[in-house]
Amino acid sequence: MRNEGSAASPVHLALCRATAQVELEMGQLLADEGRWDEEYITQRLCMLIRPEVTAVRFNRPQERQVGADYIWWWVDRSGESFGCLIQAKNIKRRGRRSSIDFQYGDGRQMQALFQTADLLRVPAGYMLYAGDRDYQAQLGCMADHSSRLPCYEREGAAVTLVPALLAERVALMSSVVPVYAQASAAEVFCQWAKPLIDFTASKPYGYGNPLHRIFDLTDADPGLREFLSAGQVGARKVARHIFDTVLRMASMQFSAVRSAPPLIDPDAASVFPNLPGWRAHFRASYFEHTLRGLRHTLPTYVEQCLAGDPPPEIADRVAGIIVVRV
Ligand SMILES: [Zn+2]
Repeated sequence: MRNEGSAASPVHLALCRATAQVELEMGQLLADEGRWDEEYITQRLCMLIRPEVTAVRFNRPQERQVGADYIWWWVDRSGESFGCLIQAKNIKRRGRRSSIDFQYGDGRQMQALFQTADLLRVPAGYMLYAGDRDYQAQLGCMADHSSRLPCYEREGAAVTLVPALLAERVALMSSVVPVYAQASAAEVFCQWAKPLIDFTASKPYGYGNPLHRIFDLTDADPGLREFLSAGQVGARKVARHIFDTVLRMASMQFSAVRSAPPLIDPDAASVFPNLPGWRAHFRASYFEHTLRGLRHTLPTYVEQCLAGDPPPEIADRVAGIIVVRV
């Protein structure tokens, strides 16, 4: 991995180290067995990010048959926190065709992910495992990469995060346009998935994103305007990374900013209690779904989980919790 110099935090270096190691292990497993198991890679990732990052796996069998979802919280020194419910998915490859099984179980797995995210009041996302660099280079990406590094040469591309709102749109489009389906996994990897290590890199992120000008935020909370226009660090930076990805897809949709009444978020810990209701073609307001994860403080269940005593409503639905102190 790139040496970030003295500015890189121990937490960031731990995530870089873990990403590099699971990339190596996915490559070894590909060579030895022709595949890797996503739950195994998740476990390895959890082991490898310790001790700088806290990762706790709950000691309870999950009741539903679906995969291993983890709650991730990025917490900064101010106490502000951003949470996201994340499910791991492999990017599978056959020849030069790739696929991501977002619709596993006839879509029931994705529905369950969204339901749990709603319960926890955080956005949902997918962690994509993309194998080693040779594997990534053969995913069939058709982009010309003219203004940037090819997707498979990005640092940390083996472990990337894509918002579930966006994955759901891609899955829906793939189900109605077979030609698109063939290219969609490579497109998700190239265009929409961000390396996990980008969220903890020391540079501020998101100053002056021109996409934000499509909104009329005249009446919005001034804090929200500032959040969207200024460069961010800490928990807000993670929130902006996720939000900007969703926004970029929303901006391609006709109804990105079709007017809607503001939503009132009843949770007093939310950083932005009043958010625009714009939905575009997503299942929910992308402001509310994404930014509800940004809070002044961690929810109380986090301490219980870290103490090995997760509330049953959480332990029954998620496999574990990861707390990244940024
Ligand atoms: Zn690409």
